[in-house]
Amino acid sequence: MKKYDYLIVGAGLFGATFAHLMQSRGRSCLVIDKRPHRGGNIYCENVEGINVHKYGAHIFHTSDREVWDFVNRLVPFNRYTNSPLANYEGRLYNLPFNMNTFYQMWGVRTPAEAQARIESQRQEALDAMRRAGVDEPRNLEEQALLLIGRDIYERLIKGYTEKQWGRPCTELPAFIIKRLPVRFVYDNNYFNDDFQGIPIGGYNLLTDALLDGVEVRCNTDFFADRAAFEAQADRVVFTGKIDEYYGYRFGQLEYRTVRFEEEVLPVSNWQGCAVVNYTERAVPFTRIIEHKHFERFGSAVDDQPVTVISREYSTEWQAGLEPYYPVNDARNTALYQQYRALAEAETNVVFGGRLAEYKYYDMAPVIRRALDMAAAEK
Ligand code: FAD
Ligand code: UDP
Repeated sequence: MKKYDYLIVGAGLFGATFAHLMQSRGRSCLVIDKRPHRGGNIYCENVEGINVHKYGAHIFHTSDREVWDFVNRLVPFNRYTNSPLANYEGRLYNLPFNMNTFYQMWGVRTPAEAQARIESQRQEALDAMRRAGVDEPRNLEEQALLLIGRDIYERLIKGYTEKQWGRPCTELPAFIIKRLPVRFVYDNNYFNDDFQGIPIGGYNLLTDALLDGVEVRCNTDFFADRAAFEAQADRVVFTGKIDEYYGYRFGQLEYRTVRFEEEVLPVSNWQGCAVVNYTERAVPFTRIIEHKHFERFGSAVDDQPVTVISREYSTEWQAGLEPYYPVNDARNTALYQQYRALAEAETNVVFGGRLAEYKYYDMAPVIRRALDMAAAEK
């Protein structure tokens, strides 16, 4: 008899959700995480009474009612609606691409005028693709030109994307940009989903609720004593890097990581909203987050005399840094498939989450995945 039914490597959203579900079915779980805290990338730190998203801005959004009900049963969510701005050469544009953006870009006021502008630019992109003998966009640049045309691509997409991914848009997969909404109404809500918000009191409350009563050991790296950990449980749920699990035997998967420069400022309201993207290449950071706006609305922003901002710098991942975004280009996708084949042959190990599945997952799909994978357990 082993001591635990499950050893769960990683106390991030996937590991915590899986542990919660299995514990509620009477299974014993040990969760370990190499970081000094629980929650993985959704972890927040309280600075001057403000919840600072330590690993970048996190906005929960979904149309999956079961996932929304699941998280709201654990902690109620507020009404935060993400409506970021883009700053290009000092001018501000609304995101996502909508009638406000088109008015700011071209002075057009009606959907018909905006559609005509975009359509003529899309036509140029289509003609160029036809001349090249292709009918599907081969990369992010072609996808963006086809979606929204050259003006917006050059001012609001190209520089930001190349900073974020460290690669030319012509070498990035088209799907990254497909998730950006384009709409011909005056609506700055970044997401199309039915539900969105931030847990009232911050994400740590969600993590606490998920891990309530579960044994968790932080500062504990699976690879420091792998055999001993494996010997303690019938099954392993692994949410770390899949290439590391297999000793990098086929080579390393690439990631992008983010460096945060945090500043406490002696003003109550610095930029007037949570997220401002800096879309030109010459500005070295990608965006500035002002954390209090996730949880304080209207005049409540002024209740505190200070604010906390973070500048985000995107860089290539190296050993010792946190891996953030999988780089799903052709090389990495093929490499992942090799590791995936090994994972599928395992009988006692489950791989879940952003790193183990090498997938650009948002929070709600991670929870959906954990719900489904836990349901599939005997
Ligand atoms: P993680 O949170 O990475 O958890 C994995 C855990 O495993 C980590 O805590 C790690 O320390 C631990 N671990 C790894 N290896 C080992 C080991 N060897 N031993 C022990 N422990 C180990 N999603 C949204 O829905 N909305 C957003 O606005 C949003 N913004 C984001 C912004 C940024 C900058 C990033 C990077 C992600 C964002 N996401 C967002 C995605 C969101 O963070 C993820 O979907 C979610 O946190 C993934 O959870 P996870 O458990 O798969 O991974
Ligand atoms: N993007 C862009 N300009 C922006 C915001 C986003 O070009 O101002 C592109 C960029 O390629 C990015 C993708 O859209 O990688 C998805 O952005 P989103 O903000 O949805 O994702 P996140 O980086 O927050 O996961």
